[in-house]
Amino acid sequence: MNQKHTITLIPGDGTGPEITDCVKRILSAAGLNIDWEIMPAGETALKEYGTPLPKETLDSIRKNKVALKGPITTPIGTGFRSVNVSIRQELNLFACLRPCKIYRGIVSKYTDVDIIIVRENTEDLYAGIEFEPGSEGAEKIIALSGGKIRKGSAISIKPISKQASERIVRFAFEYAVRHGRRKVTSVTKANIMKFTDGLFFDAGRGVAKDYPKIEYEEKLVDNMCMQLVQKPHLYDVLVLPNLYGDILSDLCAGLVGGLGVAPGANIGDGIAVFEAVHGSAPKYTGQNKVNPIAMVLSAELMLEHIGETQTAQSLENAVAAVIREGKHLTYDLGGTAKMSETADAIISKLK
Ligand code: NAD
Repeated sequence: MNQKHTITLIPGDGTGPEITDCVKRILSAAGLNIDWEIMPAGETALKEYGTPLPKETLDSIRKNKVALKGPITTPIGTGFRSVNVSIRQELNLFACLRPCKIYRGIVSKYTDVDIIIVRENTEDLYAGIEFEPGSEGAEKIIALSGGKIRKGSAISIKPISKQASERIVRFAFEYAVRHGRRKVTSVTKANIMKFTDGLFFDAGRGVAKDYPKIEYEEKLVDNMCMQLVQKPHLYDVLVLPNLYGDILSDLCAGLVGGLGVAPGANIGDGIAVFEAVHGSAPKYTGQNKVNPIAMVLSAELMLEHIGETQTAQSLENAVAAVIREGKHLTYDLGGTAKMSETADAIISKLK
């Protein structure tokens, strides 16, 4: 009997439950022995528990150390913060990993893209330190700025620490070593934000000295956007502070076929949550229509993480074969297949 794994599963909102059902079916067909602990988060949890992120769900992830998460709708106007950001912060999932790889058969201007985005998840403008116009905090900072900030401005703070910057760059180098990658590119806007982004580059240079076999380079984010559009094949592992990481991971997802094929992982010390980059696509709920591949590839990252490397490889090969054949693709990849037909096709290619 295969090793048994207990994994938290958050079906999520909108199309999330249909997509996670497909993934469960595929992983079971791949012969994995997984005991899924199904936990609520998002709109469904809000109705039942009065909070979109119940303590029980966080406890389950802490206990099992691994979760697969469907997309969650961020309730607008309820005063709740994004559940996704809260999960990352509560569990200190400091690294966001987003592989952007083009598979043969995807219609794209590019043929040779295989980029790993490593995004810092805990700091930067996402820290949630904001001051409303006219608030006491905003007025104090305006006074401190010595007239540089206009009266009545709203203010967001961008904290970048040496510890978190070194931790994320080390994560990127360790990933590069484990996966036989050749280069790590650190990306910021340090020519303008000399202290915050400058510190991120400094941390990168320091950590890079411990990895002499891997090339290290620095790029400014504006130039990086152009480089990625013109010559993405030159890039390998990118490491970025939170906001640039968010924007560039969508840019890179666009290079390789879009949200339907963009997987992701949020990783901390000993805990990891795997999820597709896309949201809950609420307008397609219950239509068996959206692409399950991004979530299947997220599950593949999860299998690698829990040591099921052979099954992870066979799952990726099956997805690559389905994309290459092009007969069972969903609407976003130019096909007419239903979500469940894509899942069936993946199962039929498993070896
Ligand atoms: P979205 O990713 O849900 O949709 C953007 C576009 O991509 C839509 O046209 C959608 O139909 C399409 N799309 C999304 N997933 C697809 C798939 N698997 N296959 C094919 N097409 C797909 O983004 P949005 O519309 O901005 O957000 C909807 C909700 O999802 C919001 O409440 C947002 O806060 C939430 N969201 C959640 C996450 C997450 O849980 N990690 C991420 C992003 C957005």
